[in-house]
Amino acid sequence: MSITAHRQVTTAEAALDSPGAYLAEMVSSVRPLLPCRLGLEDADGATLAEDVTACGPLPLFDNSAMDGYAVRAADVAAATAAAPVILPVEAAVAAGDSRRLGLAAGTCARIMTGAPIPLGADTVVRAEWTDGGTTKVTIHQAVPSGSAIRRQGSEAAGAQVLLTAGTPLGPAQIGLVAAAGRSSVLVRPRPRLTVLSAGNELAPPGTVLGPGRIWESNSFMLVSAARRAGCLARRHQTAPDDRDRVLAAINEAADADLIITSGGISMGGERDSIKAALQGLGTASFCTVAIHPGKPQGFGVVGPSRTPVVMLPGNPVSAFVSFQLFVIPVVRALQGRAQEKPCVTGAQLTRPVRSPAGRRSFISGILDYQSGTVTPAPGPSAHQLTALAQANALIIVPEEITVLAEGATVELLELPS
Ligand code: AMP
Ligand code: MG
Repeated sequence: MSITAHRQVTTAEAALDSPGAYLAEMVSSVRPLLPCRLGLEDADGATLAEDVTACGPLPLFDNSAMDGYAVRAADVAAATAAAPVILPVEAAVAAGDSRRLGLAAGTCARIMTGAPIPLGADTVVRAEWTDGGTTKVTIHQAVPSGSAIRRQGSEAAGAQVLLTAGTPLGPAQIGLVAAAGRSSVLVRPRPRLTVLSAGNELAPPGTVLGPGRIWESNSFMLVSAARRAGCLARRHQTAPDDRDRVLAAINEAADADLIITSGGISMGGERDSIKAALQGLGTASFCTVAIHPGKPQGFGVVGPSRTPVVMLPGNPVSAFVSFQLFVIPVVRALQGRAQEKPCVTGAQLTRPVRSPAGRRSFISGILDYQSGTVTPAPGPSAHQLTALAQANALIIVPEEITVLAEGATVELLELPS
């Protein structure tokens, strides 16, 4: 795998790679996960790898949509509040009743929601329009033929495709598969993703910090982001800035479907241990992408299964933004899902924002859905986690723009809540 450079010349800096081209190259080199069969209880978040068809009509038989009385419409055609119709109740039929009941003219059957419509009945009078009688019932209202009946095949005809391959399975889809009588589905499972952070300065949160050290945060943040993106995500123990230790950690993680690394790729020096380790394998490429934050990026494959590795910069907001832009599409490619343009809407800026020339900026913003305005998150820098932690959107400033005035309409990348 190699990533060829897609250059775009900028005024302010040396040539940078276009984010779109970098992403396209990366995504096109990802092979979807092999399909497997999962039981419905385990299929949440997986992606269908087959069309699911109805094996018979849905519903399978005419049944009542209401609690009420199954009647012949002609028998109640004259019913009004002033002159109700009284019918003998010949049977009571509940959901699950397996009898093949017939209904004689001039009689009715009490019927519950989901119960089979007796032969001869052609409509259901809801209970509210009656006195609720059990041996005879007084009906205050006429109903046309076919009322409150769920007809056989009205939801789906037999052999009709209910869900197509590539559909993500959530509660409604899983419910539909079960309602169609299937207990398992052929799916691409949730990708198993491992996050590896590298850096000598990183100490686990909850420990006492030595001089010059910081608490490691990216792996926790990225695991959370990956789970929201539909992955089965876990952290690998943080590696020091040591090429061999990083390589060992990458090898340990290579049984995952996707590895995400954080840090260690910016300049390519000895301390940039991720870059040093993966560059040596010859299966990774490194880029400077025209975005802010998040310029250094890397992508490659490792191990016998050619596990994709997406290398993100270490700055926490850079890592977060890069995840949204580059990792989510890779996850979708692994799941065999179509790529979709991330949810972008227009909103009015309440304050001006600045952006470096030649780079597409992503600025933490607070979108107010009611007023349609977006406010840059307060704090010393929109590129710190304190600002990002208040944000529900990223304000996008295009490459060619360095200042956007208050009131300008901007595009946004909405963040999952
Ligand atoms: P790097 O990309 O390794 O040059 O790191 C850039 C900045 O991000 C430095 O200030 C690092 O200390 C910080 N950083 C790197 N990795 C992490 C991490 N896992 N958690 C928190 N901060 C990090
Ligand atoms: Mg570092």
